[in-house]
Amino acid sequence: MQLIDLNRTREIGASSLFAKIGNFNVLFDCGISPKRVGHDSLPAFDKLGTEAIDLILISHCHLDHIGSLPYAMKKQQQARILMSRPSQIVFPRILNNSVTVMKLRRDELGITEYPFYTAADIEALEEHILPMQFGKARTIRKGSDEIEITFFEAGHVLGASSILVEHKHRKVFYTGDVLFRNLKTLKGAKWPSCRVDTMITETTRGATVSHPELSADGETERLIETIRNTIDGGGSALIPAFAFGRMQEILKIINSARKENRLQRDTPIFCSGLGYGLIEDFDIAAKKLSAVDFRKKIAKELNIKIFRLNNPKEIKKQLQRPSIFVLSSGMLVENTSAYNVASALIDDHKNAICFVGFCDESTPGGELQKCSSGDSFLFKAQNYTAKIAAKVDKFNMSGHADRDEILKRVLRLSPRAIVLVHGEEDSRNWFMDAIIEHSSKTKVFDMNPCEQFAI
Ligand SMILES: [Zn+2]
Ligand SMILES: [Zn+2]
Repeated sequence: MQLIDLNRTREIGASSLFAKIGNFNVLFDCGISPKRVGHDSLPAFDKLGTEAIDLILISHCHLDHIGSLPYAMKKQQQARILMSRPSQIVFPRILNNSVTVMKLRRDELGITEYPFYTAADIEALEEHILPMQFGKARTIRKGSDEIEITFFEAGHVLGASSILVEHKHRKVFYTGDVLFRNLKTLKGAKWPSCRVDTMITETTRGATVSHPELSADGETERLIETIRNTIDGGGSALIPAFAFGRMQEILKIINSARKENRLQRDTPIFCSGLGYGLIEDFDIAAKKLSAVDFRKKIAKELNIKIFRLNNPKEIKKQLQRPSIFVLSSGMLVENTSAYNVASALIDDHKNAICFVGFCDESTPGGELQKCSSGDSFLFKAQNYTAKIAAKVDKFNMSGHADRDEILKRVLRLSPRAIVLVHGEEDSRNWFMDAIIEHSSKTKVFDMNPCEQFAI
């Protein structure tokens, strides 16, 4: 098998891995980097040269895994796209929102190549899609060669899949992003128990020490308590959250807490437009899949309002009444609604900013987490510096399995080779050392971006 990691940098960015398996040219994911702009944010598709891609396997619909799919398909019209059925439900809304964001960035930042694709390009994907049912293998032929592909539930987010590819009795397993514990809205990953030859694993939390004593339930309790105390004290709470998956999870937690009288019932709740729209898609998926548990009546019960304000002065006005904001981006990326609200909340000790997911260190969310109360914090996009007075807290509720659990599960499949992807330098280093320590016979590959190598 030949592999090229098309992600240009050794970080979580534009996930896309090219694999030549027998006669098949396969792409695992087609992402876009959330931290970069313009062409730098795309995978290095030019490294494919004249290779025609046969299959694009989409693990899930976070933009770092699917954000460049319509762009790639413009040059790879012959390719078939395999994705889970729930992913097929949500991808149009997510990619269309990405077009809207790219158009805004083009106007704000003068990035002339934006948008990389249009609504028509997104619609055109549909006829290339082969929907995958979890656990059900699909055989694909090319000339005299054939390949068998099976998608397995990966937890993490609605539709997320780990993917098994079998070719001439050799098994390659791609984890995608994975979470084994059950969420309130989605059941955890269900992996096969077969032996695999090559494992391609995410390493997101390799640099994060596991805290098994901080159970997700305990952390959920602590989050509810923090929100309740903040509102009681006359402040507002911001929970920065990815619009897809995390936002619905937090809304469900808030709704349950309200019903049990553990949260005030009359506090206004705001969420982002994309997150609100996705509630509809979760509802459709929940009717079809028992692993999904989120119905749209929750939005009604919570009387959710869509957050549309961008102007800091207007936000301040809104804050005259204690509110709960569940807004994207989860990492407080500049100019997002979460970023704007954080800038309005930060200088008042009555308010709270509660992080509930992974924040890259270089993002404003990552930078804010490194600061202490009383420090100055610069909101670069607004050229505004504020003293941190609000409570800034982090809750261990990640949508990614912790490093020890991934290591244990990966080694359980007894792979002969493990390829590390989807992680920062120190995260990959931890996995490299840990695998060597626990399984001396396993070969570990930490690929350099855009370099071809054979396994
Ligand atoms: Zn993801
Ligand atoms: Zn990811």
